Amino acid sequence: MADYDYDLFTIGAGSGGVRASRVAAAHGAKVAVAEEHRVGGTCVIRGCVPKKMLVYGAHFAEDLQDARAFGWTVENCTFDWKVLRDNVLKDVDRLNGLYTQTLENHKVEIIHQRATVTGPNEVTLADGRKVTAKYILIATGARPHVPGCPGHEHGITSNEAFHLDALPKRILIAGGGYIANEFAGIFNEFGTSVTIINRSDQLLRGYDEQLRDRLLQISITKGIDFRFKAEFRGIEKLESGALKVSMTNHDDLEVDCVMFATGRLPNTEGLGLEALGVELGERGSIKVDRFSKSSVDSIYAVGDVTDRIQLTPVAIREGQAFADTLFGNKPTTVDYNHVPSAVFSHPPMCGVGMTESQARNELGAIRVYTSDFRPMKNVLAGRNERSLYKMICDEADKVVGIHLLGPDAPEILQAAAVAVKAGLTKADFDATVAIHPTMAEELVLMR
Ligand code: NDP
Repeated sequence: MADYDYDLFTIGAGSGGVRASRVAAAHGAKVAVAEEHRVGGTCVIRGCVPKKMLVYGAHFAEDLQDARAFGWTVENCTFDWKVLRDNVLKDVDRLNGLYTQTLENHKVEIIHQRATVTGPNEVTLADGRKVTAKYILIATGARPHVPGCPGHEHGITSNEAFHLDALPKRILIAGGGYIANEFAGIFNEFGTSVTIINRSDQLLRGYDEQLRDRLLQISITKGIDFRFKAEFRGIEKLESGALKVSMTNHDDLEVDCVMFATGRLPNTEGLGLEALGVELGERGSIKVDRFSKSSVDSIYAVGDVTDRIQLTPVAIREGQAFADTLFGNKPTTVDYNHVPSAVFSHPPMCGVGMTESQARNELGAIRVYTSDFRPMKNVLAGRNERSLYKMICDEADKVVGIHLLGPDAPEILQAAAVAVKAGLTKADFDATVAIHPTMAEELVLMR
């Protein structure tokens, strides 16, 4: 390895890149990582983490309202966006520091520059310096996709949402996926008038249909407006500063802010990959084998840039497996079966394994158990909001999927996902005594 400046050069210090770099270094490799923005990547700096903090902040709107039924006098409640925004950004700074420290503690050299790949073992930095590495790992993540309609430059993406000077009075969110539904919930709880427009007539494809319908109904009840089969025609900035949005199949809409949440594209542009013969997929993703190796032997890729499953814990596993395989003498692949996931909407929705329709298509005969209940806290609060839990089993009663919608559902699902991953049966759930009174007990009491 002495012929190269580094054993490993990672481009991108997000979840996947940081894990791969620090584990490779712990295995004894000489590692450098280039990051053009901030160490931590999307999840820590402008994604999952600050988003979850906003979700917590937003949910107080309901909690404060419900508190009255529990005897609390809640007077003169006001919300100050700037306080929350600045506290969240402060915590992002703290985490950015922790991630940097982790790399430094493992003697990973951090290079705060953009890097491009100029040879199978060569990287060129923005300042013109060229370095060589036995292996190059691309972990550059993904960026928001913005549809190219006239006036799209007037819109923002989730990147900017964390830095808004003030909350908009009216927002239009384009897209019906994770980010659209999560931010619709956040803004709606803060009192912004929210309209979601989506090109298809479905939200959150991939989740169980019945739960998606329930989330849609609850979201409408909470005041979020939905327009389906609506594609952008254009966005016009009016003299008043407001934005006039025209779309297919619906009337024009005037709002103060437009946010695009229409998917995320792998960050491969301008990295020099095509010139080296690195094969790219349809959306620009790097095609990799099960060990995350690209079509060029010395170049690997992990995380969102590979467009396998765009989730932080998956990127982390890919980074870990990559480092263990190449530097830990322990060939490891990632198991993509039974990856649980959650949408942090109000209330949240989550799932692991097959949905009812997937199971019907793949397995034929299945058994579906459901619990449709009003959480105790909602009953006392007078909140007419029902939770929906579903368990999907094969003919032998093995649990092949669990899908939950309701307060704290992702907290509950993480534990239940272990059971699904382990291949447990409905009888195993039934044999477990309930913890009463909880919402989670529904999982062992299903009919
Ligand atoms: P999603 O893939 O979840 O949803 C994209 C939405 O945008 C869909 O409704 C899709 O419509 C629509 N869309 C896609 N392309 C276009 C287009 N050209 N014009 C108009 N509409 C379009 O993407 P997000 O941006 O919400 O999130 C990106 C990814 O990030 C997610 O897939 C997820 O993996 C990850 N993420 C995970 C979170 C979590 O774990 N809680 C939170 C946030 C993001 P259609 O359905 O018709 O295709």
